[in-house]
Amino acid sequence: MKTAAAAGATCIAVLALTGWVQRPVFAAVSQDPLVPVYQEAAREYDIPWTLLAAIDRYAELSKTKSERQAAPYYGYAFEPALWAGIGNPDWSDVNPWSIDLFGGIGQDHNHDMLALPWDANDRIPVLAAWLDTEAEDVDVAVWDLFQDEIAIDRVFAFERIFDQYGLHPTRHCFPLAKRYNYTVKYTFGAGRSFGGRRRHEGVDIFADYGTPVLACSTAYVEVKGWNPFGGWRIGLRDTNNVYYYYAHLSSYAKGIHIGDVVQPGQVIGYVGNTGYGPPGTAGRFPPHLHFGMYRDVGQHEWAFNPAGPLSVWQRLPQKIIPPPID
Ligand SMILES: [Zn+2]
Repeated sequence: MKTAAAAGATCIAVLALTGWVQRPVFAAVSQDPLVPVYQEAAREYDIPWTLLAAIDRYAELSKTKSERQAAPYYGYAFEPALWAGIGNPDWSDVNPWSIDLFGGIGQDHNHDMLALPWDANDRIPVLAAWLDTEAEDVDVAVWDLFQDEIAIDRVFAFERIFDQYGLHPTRHCFPLAKRYNYTVKYTFGAGRSFGGRRRHEGVDIFADYGTPVLACSTAYVEVKGWNPFGGWRIGLRDTNNVYYYYAHLSSYAKGIHIGDVVQPGQVIGYVGNTGYGPPGTAGRFPPHLHFGMYRDVGQHEWAFNPAGPLSVWQRLPQKIIPPPID
């Protein structure tokens, strides 16, 4: 799957210094060129570089259109008043001395005499310094950056995935063990009988009760537990902010917990027919896996048809990773 983070050429913004500082026209669409900058800042401030990368990834993926216009560069964008200093009459100030005078956090780190919030060589060390000095507790420092509970969970989960699998884990797997019998019903968008008027936001894969259900991506367990529609369900999120929703399970794989990082092919549960009622309700329909995919764009999340990815993944070889034996 292509994403803003992975797709396209790297368009590093070129600054036109024609007597005054001009904002860049093109955004950097790839995170990869920033890795050496993360690593250097991380060394200087003794924090993991993958945390800096995770903050930037989450910030980039959750930028709204207007936020992107205001900050057309990859990664976290500091509030102008925070960068320049709240009392600074010019919140677009890039002079490191006047910024310092007004208590702004902006700094010139690459010695070009300018503290540029859109220059990764200034922005990322400032981010690292913030994490290093603003709080003894790094959770609090991240909270201060986003002011959002969800952001904390995702940033630290992204960091754990980056630590283990790098910035671009690309492997995928069909969400059901293929050596069992199964039938995919492509019913995305069809009407539903239970729970009033709603669309079917996914695909149903019919299989026998107990058929192993597999993680389809390198991701972390964001949601696990009962839901009146989905029964025993599990939700995985990957580092492109794609959410994979598995419903109607008979049970979960042993040792699967919220926050765990899973890899493609890992058993996460078993096909069942739970849901459409209070906790424990089962048997109101034939056993199947309901599989949905959602893309998160900042303030909201929308379902998209998983048929395309599923048909690609169906052709991939499967290496099933069983749950740990207890
Ligand atoms: Zn379904």
